[in-house]
Amino acid sequence: METKISSSIEEAADLLNRGQLVAIPTETVYGLAANALDKTAVVEIFNAKQRPSFDPLIVHIGNKSDVNRYASHIPINAQKLMDSFWPGPLTVVLPKQNCIPDEVTSGLDTVGIRMPNHSLTLQLLSKLDFPLAAPSANPFGYISPTTSQHVFDQLQNRIPMILDGGSCDIGVESTIVGFEGELPIVYRLGGLTLEDIRNVCGEIKVEVNSSSDPKAPGMLKSHYAPTKPLKIISSNHNFNDLTNHSALIVFGDFEKTTHAQLFNLSPIGNYKEAASNLFSFLRKLDTDDNVKEIFAVLLPSINLGIAINDRLSRAAHQD
Ligand code: AMP
Ligand code: MG
Repeated sequence: METKISSSIEEAADLLNRGQLVAIPTETVYGLAANALDKTAVVEIFNAKQRPSFDPLIVHIGNKSDVNRYASHIPINAQKLMDSFWPGPLTVVLPKQNCIPDEVTSGLDTVGIRMPNHSLTLQLLSKLDFPLAAPSANPFGYISPTTSQHVFDQLQNRIPMILDGGSCDIGVESTIVGFEGELPIVYRLGGLTLEDIRNVCGEIKVEVNSSSDPKAPGMLKSHYAPTKPLKIISSNHNFNDLTNHSALIVFGDFEKTTHAQLFNLSPIGNYKEAASNLFSFLRKLDTDDNVKEIFAVLLPSINLGIAINDRLSRAAHQD
């Protein structure tokens, strides 16, 4: 099957209406979408990504109020977060209604729902009579795609179309929040910061360290991983001992001498810029023959630095 890259919403809608897969742009990363209410279509997502069936998908909606069709209960704090941050990089995990097939939720009785903030995908959703189940459009465990070319490089000939919406503004996945009663539980760090969530809800719990808990498989210890070895090193490291076959990922002011090839996520220390560069840098280094190993210095643990450090640490983990 030849994979077409196009910005035609009509073509994308037509394929999705026929139960086929289309990669879609969002502000976080590109997603691999299918009709979330059609289990046969949804199973094709798992096949194309080689994703284990225990890893549930996020359901994307085009209107805030659609959440009431797919969730059976909405805590007050969930409503406040949706009102504050949708459309945007927030996924809420809520008890599901029966219309959401078990294939989407991996048999869980909850469903992850998000309203993405990308004009093409919102227009596409407005043309469809169903929501879109969409995980990131990469082979399972690899780096998430932030351009249509990234998707093409890895899924060409496996899907009929990539809806081209340029490069993703945020560049890391959504923050995933579930609820114990009214208490928000953060399962995955992402494009919405913990500070933002605390400002709306007050107390929150962060539970992102489980290694193979099926509640949040995006939290597998090894994930978002390049094929080359990646090591985290401290900012006090003697950078002189790195060779010119190494790449060194840093952030902000970095004046130390090193033989390594330097990749600064944001020389001016801007977290948003760093997040949007992260996955592109990792892909570039993974395919560059002059790079044998990758080193990274973690960012300060504030703002999007927390989610970026989470991705770097999982990329570094070898199982
Ligand atoms: P991806 O879209 O590839 O970033 O992956 C979606 C991630 O959303 C999964 O790996 C899970 O961590 C999370 N997720 C989706 N649905 C649920 C759910 N019902 N409960 C908990 N986590 C979920
Ligand atoms: Mg993913």
